[in-house]
Amino acid sequence: MRGTQRSDTIESEREVNKCVHCGFCLESCPTYVVTRSEVHSPRGRILSVKLGLDAEGIETCMYCRRCEIACPSGVKYDKIITTARRPDAFKKLMLKTLERPRLLYLGTSAVMKGNGRLSYRLRDFIASPEEPLEHEEKDPDVYLIPGCITSTFFRGTVEKALRFLQEKGFRVKILNGCCGLAHYSEGDVKGGDEALNKLVPSHIKSSGKVTLVSLSSNCTAHMREKGMNVMDFHEFMKSMNYHVRIGNKFTIHYPCHANLLGITKSLADVISDKENMVQMDDPSFECGAGGAFFLFNEKMSDLVIEEKNRKVKGSGAEIVISTNPSCSLTLKKSGKKVLHIADFL
Ligand code: SF4
Ligand code: SF4
Repeated sequence: MRGTQRSDTIESEREVNKCVHCGFCLESCPTYVVTRSEVHSPRGRILSVKLGLDAEGIETCMYCRRCEIACPSGVKYDKIITTARRPDAFKKLMLKTLERPRLLYLGTSAVMKGNGRLSYRLRDFIASPEEPLEHEEKDPDVYLIPGCITSTFFRGTVEKALRFLQEKGFRVKILNGCCGLAHYSEGDVKGGDEALNKLVPSHIKSSGKVTLVSLSSNCTAHMREKGMNVMDFHEFMKSMNYHVRIGNKFTIHYPCHANLLGITKSLADVISDKENMVQMDDPSFECGAGGAFFLFNEKMSDLVIEEKNRKVKGSGAEIVISTNPSCSLTLKKSGKKVLHIADFL
């Protein structure tokens, strides 16, 4: 294990030793499903960590943590992968950029004009980055946390959410930045915790008077795992007894981390025309984005995107509801309309 703290290593070893190699996790793992290779499975990855091998599978893990739900031995896989991985210099730079969405906007706008591999890949998934929306009212009672990708690539969703909150009489401040989940997925736990502390300072976290509302469900899940009292946007709508009508046949995608914590299961509760809802096969199957995974592991990512979008198309839906931005980028490859629940306000 590369450059790790001793406590992380001990925790990781404990989790590795809990694995009994039963294989119950295999079919839950998107990279195993699309390759049928043990190297790209949770069990194979755990074995490579146990044997101290720098195996290819460590880099191809999408950090979706679906294997944790399937594992009867309760292996906390995230502890293993965050200890086994370290970001290289380029990924470190990318993680720092996510913490400043305005820089992310300027950076992606510039890179998208280029001719490099990353430029093509970004253009393949992103229409055009937009300057993140800034908004601050005096003595806010709601802090709206768009998430770095939503801020930069889904500004329209942020605008709708803000207008809704203002119409309901709340004083709002937008907190732009990164929750640190992307850092965790690259093995930079310390950097992730620092990013979250920068995004939501401790005086806000500990204030009992404000409500924290997140527009990115996987970020909601990560912040909750970090002990924060934060509501996913649809949960806030539900608390206001507010419903939206979709109007066409729709299906709901369950983002992986949100699914782990059971967050998006209640999304349908804020939809009034449930008669239009159709279920896709395995709605929490990984979307193929894996945070920034799709930018650096194109081959594996494309296989998973194809498998996911086969499920989306099979549902017969015209609209996919996705409340996590990186998922929305890859789900668009299905050719369906992909919208956040706030887009219906
Ligand atoms: S299900 Fe759990 S115990 Fe079984 S192989 Fe997978 S990680 Fe190991
Ligand atoms: S986190 Fe996801 S991709 Fe990684 S081993 Fe688990 S199920 Fe597979």
